[in-house]
Amino acid sequence: MPASIAGVKRLLLTTIALCALAAQGVPAQEPVRHTAPGSLKQFSREPDAPDPETVENPEAAESTGTALERDESIGPESGEFSILGRTLEPGEFRQFNWQLDTAMAGLSVPTPVLVARGQFPGPTLCLVAAVHGDELNGVEIVRRIMFGLEREKLAGTVLGIPIANAFGFLRGSRYLPDRRDLNRFFPGSADGSMASRFAYALFEQVIRECNVLIDIHTGSFNRTNLPQLRADLGDDAVLKLSRQFGEMAVLHSEGPGGSLRGAAADIGIPTVTLEAGGPSQFQANAVDAGVEAIETLLDRLEMLKQFRMFSAPQPVFYDSTWVRAESGGILLAEVELGDEVSKGQRLATVTDPIENRRETLYAPFRGRILGMALNQVVMPGFAAFHIGRATTDSEAAAVEPETSVTEDPDAAGPMPSAETLAPEMEAEPESESGPGSEPDTESDTEPEDT
Ligand SMILES: [Zn+2]
Repeated sequence: MPASIAGVKRLLLTTIALCALAAQGVPAQEPVRHTAPGSLKQFSREPDAPDPETVENPEAAESTGTALERDESIGPESGEFSILGRTLEPGEFRQFNWQLDTAMAGLSVPTPVLVARGQFPGPTLCLVAAVHGDELNGVEIVRRIMFGLEREKLAGTVLGIPIANAFGFLRGSRYLPDRRDLNRFFPGSADGSMASRFAYALFEQVIRECNVLIDIHTGSFNRTNLPQLRADLGDDAVLKLSRQFGEMAVLHSEGPGGSLRGAAADIGIPTVTLEAGGPSQFQANAVDAGVEAIETLLDRLEMLKQFRMFSAPQPVFYDSTWVRAESGGILLAEVELGDEVSKGQRLATVTDPIENRRETLYAPFRGRILGMALNQVVMPGFAAFHIGRATTDSEAAAVEPETSVTEDPDAAGPMPSAETLAPEMEAEPESESGPGSEPDTESDTEPEDT
């Protein structure tokens, strides 16, 4: 049953209220020290909070190599695990909160970070959701994983950020309050825009501690995605990681510039994006698929035995394309998410309700529907169906991923919303803020998804 976003907002507000209690001395939650001077502040002013100057340089934290098996030492095998200025004992669970240091501190929103340290040493798996604030399925996926872990059996640490963009989450928006897309600003900078500072803080304080990272997203703008991984299959460590999720489909993609996935991969953290469903709703099937895939990963990484075996083959797509509406009108689909389609098969009609003209959309090749628009009014050029080209293992072995993928040949974005056309977007003096940083052009590589 879909939960209302209002209910979720109430939950978050409750969380924030609890955070305020914690700041007053209730020990349920931890204040956060900062490692990026000037960009963050401590959530509370506990007298025993560590001095920022004493905090270890996060860049000194070793990022582990590319191996995934524990016997290849993906993570720290020692008994120590510290993050955000606190050392966790084996079997311990903590909730941290941190927030940007802004001029209006009283109006800031803390971002919760959940950390579950297992009883045994092992790697640190990080789960990040709602980098886009309106993508809710990942919030529930992270909740179910984090609070379902048997820490007495867990090897390593699982770190969950269920609502990375709490600002957008509270507003039901994909973006930050400055109307920027957080997932175009990683790894960020300490003295950039708000989006850049936020990305920097998250990256320096948390992401650098990860040995494996899963960034959870959904489709956007009234589109929904078959549960699937987006992975740069040209990167051996990522390729290896992508095969550890059971039967979940994998689509090769290098990801857009400034994405969390790309920035983490750049410092040697094997990272994939997990896409599940559409925005602004909780979808049981998408959540179940995400949870199952991550549980399978925990098993494959030998972090937590699941006593279940998933033996179905994992579909891999090295190539995909978007089918776009050529005319405006009412889109009515004739296929469903996940359907196998043949070349030339009817996908949908687009009917102009005023002139009663009808366009039919067809599949350009044999493949599978990996993502699709919900039935709605569309404008010409709207990306309506994302079709993955079926690839056999032998074909995949012969593919050069770097050159084989055209995710968005015409690089056209979604229709700009009133929000994206706001004047605040116009001036952006930072280097990472080329034209591609604006929300309406984020689809340069993947129409409107990650
Ligand atoms: Zn997203």
